[in-house]
Amino acid sequence: MTRPLVGVLALQGDVREHIAALNDSGADAMGVRRPEELDKVDGIVIPGGESTTMSKLLEIFELLEPLRQRLSDGLPAYGSCAGMILLASEVLDTRPDAKHLNAIDMTVRRNAFGRQVDSFESDLEFTGIDGDPVRAVFIRAPWVERVGEGVEVLARVPHSEGQAADRIVAVRHGSLMATSFHPEVTGDRRVHDLFVDVVRGRA
Ligand code: GLN
Repeated sequence: MTRPLVGVLALQGDVREHIAALNDSGADAMGVRRPEELDKVDGIVIPGGESTTMSKLLEIFELLEPLRQRLSDGLPAYGSCAGMILLASEVLDTRPDAKHLNAIDMTVRRNAFGRQVDSFESDLEFTGIDGDPVRAVFIRAPWVERVGEGVEVLARVPHSEGQAADRIVAVRHGSLMATSFHPEVTGDRRVHDLFVDVVRGRA
């Protein structure tokens, strides 16, 4: 599988940016809106956007159960921001009727960074990505408050970052990855490179 086919859940959110990033990282990419499209892909990206809206749209488009099923069958997945929230097994500060995919054993707090710091940027050390730190753009981002057994922490907010210091903002469990931030907007393709390697079974 030199050039895997990676889907981007295309119900809402920054779909185009992920498709461009995946292409740069050596994957073919397509938007996924229907169960038949989901059947075709070797991996899936769940983009940023609004997790409660995406949750509703997953039900309306009859994708919630098929996606849960493919994830439990081992489909590699990467969720950014709202996508991280959707992959979690437990979500705090969300709407009571919001659904999630239960794919990664972790507790995620939605809009965790608070109002004053709705959006900010920081440079992170990221396990598995060598060289310069990763520039992380956070936009009304969640953080991870608990990880289950076997879930690896890949990045935390730097120690210098005040209230949010040391919060977990990137995780991996086998072929599932999630980040609180948006690597698709910076032009640095190393997070997508890592995920495409995961899809290829190489990382
Ligand atoms: N705050 C959004 C949510 O709760 C996530 C923000 C984002 O994806 N940029 O879903």
